[in-house]
Amino acid sequence: MKRIDIDHIFGLSAGIACLMLVPPAMGESRQHGVHVHGVAEMTLVLDQRDLEIEFSGPAMSVVGFEHTAQSTTDIEAVKKAQTALNNGANVFTFIGTQCVMRDVTVDVSAVWDGMAVDRDEGAGQGSHARAHESHEKHEKHEESHSDISAHYTFRCMENDSPLAVRVGVDDLPFDVEEIHAKWVTDSGQGAAQLSADKSQLTLR
Ligand SMILES: [Zn+2]
Repeated sequence: MKRIDIDHIFGLSAGIACLMLVPPAMGESRQHGVHVHGVAEMTLVLDQRDLEIEFSGPAMSVVGFEHTAQSTTDIEAVKKAQTALNNGANVFTFIGTQCVMRDVTVDVSAVWDGMAVDRDEGAGQGSHARAHESHEKHEKHEESHSDISAHYTFRCMENDSPLAVRVGVDDLPFDVEEIHAKWVTDSGQGAAQLSADKSQLTLR
C-alpha cells in the first residue's frame, strides 16, 4: 500500500499559505476609504536632489476620530496634528545629506472643514442642526473611514553618499504604529515597513 506523505502535503499547504501572506506588490493602490487603524502609508520619490514625500494615515490614528469635528476638543486634536505634520523638519530626519523643506500641504478636510464649532446653544441653531445631520450621516456610514494626509517637498544637498530618512513615529502626537513605505529613486525602488523599532529607510 502506498503511504501518503502527510508531511509533504502539510509542507505544500504551508507554502501556499505563505504566498498568500506576501504583501501587495508595489504600485498596487489601495482601495479608497479602506485602511487599517494604526497603519499609515508613505511614498517617497527622489529625483536628483528633489525629494517628494506623501504621507497618509487613518484619522483615527492621527486625531483619534473619523467623524467630522464636532467639538472644540475635536478641533484642538486636529490643530495639534496639523501643527505636528506641518513641521516636516521634525517628522523627518535625513542621514547622509541635508534636505530643506520647500513646501508642505496638510489635508485634514476629511474630519474638519476649518470652521469653528459654535458653542452658544441659543445662537447656534444652524450649527447644532448641522452637527446632528453629520452625526446621523456618520451613524449611517459606520463602516466609512477618513484619512489625513500630508505632502512634502524637500531639496537635498548635492551629495553621492547614502541618503536615509528617519521618520519620527515616536515624536508624533498620535497612534501610528506602522508605516508602509514605498520609495522610488533614479536608481531603483523598494518597499519597507517602518515602526518605532525600525524607523529608518535607506533610499540611496
Ligand atoms: Zn478608519
